[in-house]
Formats: sequence, C-alpha cells, structure tokens
Amino acid sequence: DHLVNQIAAGEVVERPASALKELLENSLDAGADKITVDLAQGGIKLIRVTDNGGGIAADDLPLALDRHATSKIASLDELEQVGTLGFRGEGLASIASVSRLTLISRQEDAAHAHQILAIDGRLHPVEPAAHAPGTSVEAVDLYFNTPARRKFLKSDNTEYAHCAAVFERIALARPDVEFLLRHNGKVVWRLPQGSRAERVAALLGQDFIQASLPLEHVAGPLQLTGFIADPTYSKASRDAQYFYVNGRFVREKTAQHALRQAYRDVLHHERHPAYVLFLTMDPAAVDVNVHPTKIEVRFRESQAVHQFLFHSLNKTLSGSAG
Ligand code: ADP
Ligand code: MG
Repeated sequence: DHLVNQIAAGEVVERPASALKELLENSLDAGADKITVDLAQGGIKLIRVTDNGGGIAADDLPLALDRHATSKIASLDELEQVGTLGFRGEGLASIASVSRLTLISRQEDAAHAHQILAIDGRLHPVEPAAHAPGTSVEAVDLYFNTPARRKFLKSDNTEYAHCAAVFERIALARPDVEFLLRHNGKVVWRLPQGSRAERVAALLGQDFIQASLPLEHVAGPLQLTGFIADPTYSKASRDAQYFYVNGRFVREKTAQHALRQAYRDVLHHERHPAYVLFLTMDPAAVDVNVHPTKIEVRFRESQAVHQFLFHSLNKTLSGSAG
C-alpha cells in the first residue's frame, strides 16, 4: 500500500514545486489571508507553509493525511462545480509518502494546537503542540525514500525557480492575501495585502504596470479582467504570460492563440505579449480534470472563448493604438 502511495504521489508531487502548490492551495481553501512559505535548498530539504486559516480539528488530523480523504467534496456531481482548488484528497497523503511530514493545526476555538507526524508513510499518534490558530505543514527531505525520483530532480537553483514560479502565480491571483516567501532563511518576497494593481506591480515591476492597459470585459457568462502590456514593455516574453481561469493559473492553447492574434492584428507586433489576465466563467464550461496538477484545462466551447478573448483584447488594444 505504501508503494502504491509512492507511485501515485509521483504524479501529484513530481517535484518540490508541485508539493508547494498543493500546500498553498490547501491554505487558500482554508480561508487563510496570511501565508508564510519557508524553503531550504530549493524545497528539497524543506518546504514549510504556515497559514492563519480555519485549521483542522485534532481528531481529523490523521484523516487529512489519508489518501482520498477530502473535506471539500461530497459527491462526484460536485466535481463539476468545484469552487475550491483541491478536491482529490491526494495532496497531503502524496507529500507524506515522499517526505518526513509534520502537520500542526489549531482551530480558532481550540485551547491549543495538535500535531501529527508522518514518517515514511507511517502516522504517529496525535500530540499536543503550540501554534497560533491556523495550520503549518512541514515537509522535510523530499524523496529521501524514493532515490529513483530524487535522481530526476535538478539543481537546488532550478527546483527553487520552479517553487518561486508557483508562489508568484498564486500570489498574483490573490492580492487579498498577505504572503511571505523565504529561501534558505532569506526573505525573497514580502507581499502585503493590497489592490490587484499593487500586487502585479510588486511581482512584475512598476514598468509592467506603466506599460499596461487595464482590461475589463463582460459578455454573458464570460468575464475578463487584468492587464496587458503594450510593446514598450521590454521584457515581454512567454515568461510574463499569466492567464487564469476561475482563479487557477493555467496554460491553454486557445487562449494563448487568441491573445497573440489580437496583439498581432491590432499592434502588428509579432512578439509574445506580456499579460496578467483573469477569465471568469461557468465552472461547468471548463474541464479542469485533464491533469492532476490542474495546470491544463479544456474549454467545452473553445471557439466561443477564443472569440471573446480576441474581441476583448482587440477592443482594449485598438483604443490605445489611436
Ligand atoms: P484536498 O485538498 O484535495 O481535500 P489534501 O490531501 O490536500 O486534499 O488535504 C486533505 C484535507 O486536509 C483537506 O480536505 C482539508 O480538510 C485538510 N487540510 C489540508 N491542509 C489544510 C490547511 N492548510 N488548513 C485547513 N485544513 C487543511
Ligand atoms: Mg489539497
């Protein structure tokens, strides 16, 4: 069973950054508005995520580490309408099966916190602990027990870069949440709560905001907001393309194509546009189940989405071209 867990875990926690993504999504699902991330050696040595969310009851701590135990979805029908980020109940179990994991949590009304340790897939008894209301998950020595997988990891720097990318994507989408990121004890990002524009400026730079056109379009159930940089933004590249569907960062071909086409048609620029765009739509019209890490999605009616994105961009860019 432990082996089965480790194999399944490979899909969910391919690398430290995937574990970090699961933990950040759990904190957001728990309603946290303050999240602190500590990484060591690119996340391979340590990933710790601390939040001030709703917490987990002492009795539920072992359950949280159980595969397929999720508190977020009651039936398969709900899969279509998921508002939360995680819903498979595999995140913590997967991370626990490839690391030494400590889960500490305290609910608001509890007298103190409790913790549980999972070492090599085995759960230790729940014990009292000290912690402010909220949750900390600490994963140490990732893949120490799966040398084959460990071999596939790149350098600390590369793994760190993946972790930072995950952190930045999530932080961009949630300016209502205060974030702190430390790597090897050094503060990398300290992001106070603020407006969307402030968060974008903090992460992508004031020059991105200065070169950007704000965007706000609605057509029926489709809504697009965010920023697209004009060609004066010099760092335009695929690295500065942030596209979100219902709050999730995704890569989606239809959208990439529509955005690039608008850029080319209106501004006659061949380069890749830089943007931070949030598409909101009926959750039932988008299939987020394509891949366990949920970065790939599929639109049920991709032609309609393509048209909407193209027209929104076209309108915004045309207004500025004249
Ligand atoms: P999923 O997120 O898909 O439900 P996980 O394995 O990631 O599965 O988490 C299992 C359960 O543990 C969650 O459903 C939730 O009830 C609880 N949990 C995990 N992380 C947190 C957290 N940071 N705060 C509160 N509850 C949490
Ligand atoms: Mg989860």
